[in-house]
Amino acid sequence: MFIGVDDTDSLKGGCTTYLAALLCDSLGVTGYPKLIRLNPNIPYRTRGNGAIAFQVEGDAGKIEKTTLDLVKKHAQLGDDNTNPGVVFIHELTPEQRKRLEGFYLKTVSELVTLEEAESVAAEVNAEVHRFKNGRGVIGALAAVGSKLPDKTYELIAYRVKRNYGKEKSVDEESVYKMDRETYPETFDNIDPDKKQILISPHGYDPVLCGIRGDSVEVVRRAWKLLKVSEEVERIQVFETNQGTDAHLRDRRISELKPYDCVIIEGEVIISPQDIEGGHVLFGLSDGSGKIACAAYEPTGDFRKVVRKLAEGDRIRVFGGIGKHPNTLNLEKLQVLELARLCERIPPECCGRRMTSAGAGKGFKCRKCGKKAGMDAVVLREVGRDLGPGLYEVPPRARRHLSKPLVRFRQPKGRFNSLKSKLFKVMRRGSSEP
Ligand SMILES: [Zn+2]
Repeated sequence: MFIGVDDTDSLKGGCTTYLAALLCDSLGVTGYPKLIRLNPNIPYRTRGNGAIAFQVEGDAGKIEKTTLDLVKKHAQLGDDNTNPGVVFIHELTPEQRKRLEGFYLKTVSELVTLEEAESVAAEVNAEVHRFKNGRGVIGALAAVGSKLPDKTYELIAYRVKRNYGKEKSVDEESVYKMDRETYPETFDNIDPDKKQILISPHGYDPVLCGIRGDSVEVVRRAWKLLKVSEEVERIQVFETNQGTDAHLRDRRISELKPYDCVIIEGEVIISPQDIEGGHVLFGLSDGSGKIACAAYEPTGDFRKVVRKLAEGDRIRVFGGIGKHPNTLNLEKLQVLELARLCERIPPECCGRRMTSAGAGKGFKCRKCGKKAGMDAVVLREVGRDLGPGLYEVPPRARRHLSKPLVRFRQPKGRFNSLKSKLFKVMRRGSSEP
């Protein structure tokens, strides 16, 4: 039987992954439950809570009762924005599986309504349990349907309840050591610019820390390298779509809808400008329409790259569309071809540059007195302090789903292991070596 659960936590506490760990324990699930991140641009998903799915065999009645009892006990039902959904699917025909996969692919990248989810649920004979408005059914169903051509793993360690809300006791030095020994097979452990530890979230939460990596082996090895001086209730390894760009689709600007997650190729038509709040915006056109692309203040040094763009540059942008389909929130940027920028300088005479003869009046040689018209101006190419390649936001500003540049090249063999060493050296700053 397939089980999917979503939207059980709130800003104040709880955690769907913790519920998943309890369920796997109680139901005797073997293998790794899926932790599935869905479209991060949807306003009610801003916390980035994941949906979960797993498969289990046994007495259906018992399994369903255990699941629903645990959801009722642990879901933050008192919060207005928590609307859990649970789905049970006994078996799937190949057609139903395909239908569900299609639903996942849409839910991870676009806005999906509860009505659509209900109709898909009926098509695949899912037994649906809604709590309150039941919006969690969307994510629960999508998680069961998720297919992961590229996947990563996350090991999450949970605290004992009496420590919830207390300062977390993961030794910082040990996190750096773990990172040195396992990066880039594990990723987003730390933020090198801000010297921030990223594996331990803040707040009243059952999560002590979460380690993300390319394999079960590496996240387990990384966990063993950490020094933790508090009791750990349990650990659970999840299979996930985090760090895979599963949400991004190639799109034309004219076909954008609110909350789409997209990749657009186009030309810079308005050069970057700083606006209030430390954000940087520029205009992009792909021939079908125009859009503003934004690198917001929290993206830190990524904005330095964005500011170097100029009109005429051909680029590819990766990111999310907001409530109005006229702004894209940048997650990554690829410079394809730089425009040739020229500056206008005076012509030469008598071995040196002529000087201006006054606004709009052309040029004059100080030595021989010769004059030249405005049309004698010389265009000189200006060097660009930017190269073709991929650029990304720093780890602290990265969406769960965004694929870090280090994951674009899997370390295999000696040559690649050299490359990954190079990455370790070059990781300061946001550009690709
Ligand atoms: Zn002269």
